[in-house]
Formats: sequence, C-alpha cells, structure tokens
Amino acid sequence: MHKIDIELVEMTMDVMKYAIDRISATKSKIGKPKSEAKLKELVGETITDKGIGGEYAFNLWKKHLMKANVPIDHPRHLAFVPASPTRASIMFDLVTSASSIHGAYWMEGAGGIFCENEAMKWIVSLTGLPEGAFGVFTSGGTAANLSAMVTAREHWRENDVFKREKGLIITSIGAHSSIKAMAKVIDVDVLLVDTEERLLGIELEKTIKGLTESQRKRLFSVVATGGTTNAGIIDDLEGIANICKKENLWFHVDAAYGGGALAADSVKHLFNGIEKADSITIDPHKWMFSPYDCGAVIYKNPELAKKAHAQEGSYLDIFKDEGADGFNPTDYQIQLTRRVRGLPLWFSLATHGTDRYKEAVERGIELAQMAGKMITESPYLELVREPSLSCVLYRRIGWKPEDYTKWTYKNHREGFALVTPTKWRTGDSYETVSRFCFINPDTTGKDIEMILDSME
Ligand SMILES: *Cc1c(COP(=O)(O)O)cnc(C)c1O
Repeated sequence: MHKIDIELVEMTMDVMKYAIDRISATKSKIGKPKSEAKLKELVGETITDKGIGGEYAFNLWKKHLMKANVPIDHPRHLAFVPASPTRASIMFDLVTSASSIHGAYWMEGAGGIFCENEAMKWIVSLTGLPEGAFGVFTSGGTAANLSAMVTAREHWRENDVFKREKGLIITSIGAHSSIKAMAKVIDVDVLLVDTEERLLGIELEKTIKGLTESQRKRLFSVVATGGTTNAGIIDDLEGIANICKKENLWFHVDAAYGGGALAADSVKHLFNGIEKADSITIDPHKWMFSPYDCGAVIYKNPELAKKAHAQEGSYLDIFKDEGADGFNPTDYQIQLTRRVRGLPLWFSLATHGTDRYKEAVERGIELAQMAGKMITESPYLELVREPSLSCVLYRRIGWKPEDYTKWTYKNHREGFALVTPTKWRTGDSYETVSRFCFINPDTTGKDIEMILDSME
C-alpha cells in the first residue's frame, strides 16, 4: 500500500489539485440526488477483483458522483442546519488525514490531542463553566448527547437506591430528535413537556410536581435546548438550572446548533444559566465552521465521564502507563479509535483568531434579521415568529403544504437554492411553513432576496 511510484505521485497531485480547486471555489453548484439505479448505470462496477484504477475511479467521481451531492457551504443552502467550514479548517482536515493519527490516547496522539485541547479550552471558556470543566470532540451532537446521557445515568446509578431503576429524562418537544433516539439506546424513558416555545423553569417545576412517586424516583436528568434546531429557541436555562439544583437532577444543555452563538456578544446573554450545566453539547461542524464531522461534549466534572466511559482491556492497559501520562479523549465519550477531529478547528482558530469567529457568527444572526425585515415588508410573505438566533420561520400567504414542497424541489432541481419547509405548531394544529437557517457568512442579502422573490 505504501510503495511510492510515479503513478501514486501523479494521482496525489490530481487529487490535491481537485481539493485546491474546491477549497478556493466560492461558488460550487448545488448538486441533486439521483436514484441508486441511475448512479449505478452511470458508473458501472467499481469494486472488482483487479480494481478499476485510481484515475478512472476519480473521473467517475468528478463526472457523476460529486454532482449528486449538495455542498453544505453553498450560500443558498439554507435548509436543515447548513455548515460553512473555513478554508483553513478544510486544509487541515486534509492534514489530519495525511498525518494518520490515532486520537484515542495521548501516548499515540499527543501532538494532535494537544491542539484539540487548545481549541476545546476556547469552547469551554465560552460556556462560562467553572474551573475544571472540560470536553472532547465527538462525531457530532448525537454522539455528544449520548455520551452525556450515559455519564448522567451512570452517575445517578452509583446510588444503590437507583441501581435497578429504569431512568427517566425530562425535555420538551422542541428538543432534537437525537435526545429521544439516544434515550432508546440507553433504555431510559423520556417525558416531553408539551411546548415547542421556550421551556421555562416554572413549567419544568410543574411537570416534576405532577410526576407519580415512581416516576419521580426514576427521574435523573433534564435536557434543555440552547437553540432549537427548528426555530433557534433557547430554553430558560437559568430557571431550569435552578430547578435541577433544587431537585438534584443532572442538567444537560443541548446546544449542538446554537452553541456557536455563545461567541456572539449580541445574543450571549440569552444563554444565561448554561454555566450551571453538568454537561453541554456543541457542534463545531454547525456554527463553528468546522468540516464534518466534529461535535463536542463538555462536562462540568470530567471525572464522572471518565468513570462512565473509560474502557478496560488487557491490551489497553499500556495506554494508562505513566509514560503515556496525558489526556485520553477516549475516556470521556463513547468512541475508542477516533480521528483527531478537533484538529481542523484548532488550525482555523489559530489562523484567524477568535474575533473572526465572533464576527462570522454575528453575520448569521444579522442575515436572519435582514430576512425577517424583507419578509415583513413583503405583501405575500409573513413571519411565523420573530427570527431567533439564525433561524427564520415564515409563510407564503395562501400556500398549501404541497406548494412549499413543489417550490423546494424546483429550486433544488435548478441548482438555485436548497430551502426546505418545516412544521410549526400553533395550538393543536401543525402548519407547514418555510424556514431559513443561516450559517454561511458568505450568504448575501441578494441571495435572500432572490429566494423570497421566487415565492411570489
Ligand atoms: C444537529 C443537532 C443535533 C444532532 O447533531 P449531529 O451532529 O447531527 O449528530 C442534536 N441536537 C441539536 C439541538 C441539533 O441541532
């Protein structure tokens, strides 16, 4: 595999050239999916006994397969939670791969983990958590939430009284789907407070008061959201923190999307109370301009995470040796072998400085405000609610759900934009509405205007 020959060098140059072109291109096209059958028809058999050759495979990629992807950083990709990795971070993603670092243990990955930790210190500093708090990079928000929930549950179960209990978590219906999904993985129940608006401390208190005695015994954690994925709503973190303290519950804040906004002075105060969390999820691959995949889980007391996650094995003992003295990321989340996926973020932060991150996040918030104003001034559009963080929910007056769908597909087909509808609940009914989520600082007012115009 490692034999150096001319062909390999040439191939490396080709791939690097492609990467350079892609990194420096400001406008890459919005691709569209094709069925698997269609893709197969276009490329034929690619995995064969003898191989089809790098050059041929690479051409298939460029000609057919790449075009069936939507670049997440297109300035008119405003669906779901887009992303916008900095060029510096993409460059260092290549370096991360080329360096072949095992990121589980300090013994093997000290240099890479050192860099990750420098970046992590900045993220932790944004949260205002007390001295001693620290975190690790994960594959994303889902893995971060899972790692935090496992830690919370294991900590709770240290008490013999709860050893045989099936745990219960309270969150709201505004919480991300991964909370429910990961609760299944660890076999705990979830009680949803029935609000997609801001979850308030008093509502949480009322919900806890309404629990049966056995439910109350099983309740070990509350998950609040620091920027709901659908609408950018930040729960009453201060109020919830106080109830959690009073009731002795683990307070987890899922800020996978919204966490980047902790860097923005204009909205930071909305997160007051986050500094009282036991654990926090933040996705650098969402609003901290990292390439996929890069999530983060942060703990007030990392020792509790270590108790829950450190893996034992006779062949692993060497990594705990004195000579390997250092921080082992594997000990604080669910994954053993891992890429040093915080390394691209480190290089980008080192390159640009944290002020640039502040500005880029503020730009997302500003774009949401701009869009809000344009929508308010339009005769055929209406805000569903005021923009929150970088999310904007709005309706096209008179449109039915299928009109939104048709419009989305048409824009996507034409390679013009990707903006997808969502649902918003008012009272008991769900309305289909349109949604923007801004991450990319290169999105312009003109982009928004063009998209809104296409709804006329
Ligand atoms: C995106 C998101 C997640 C899931 O994160 P992944 O990185 O996609 O696994 C969890 N919680 C919230 C609030 C999110 O926005």
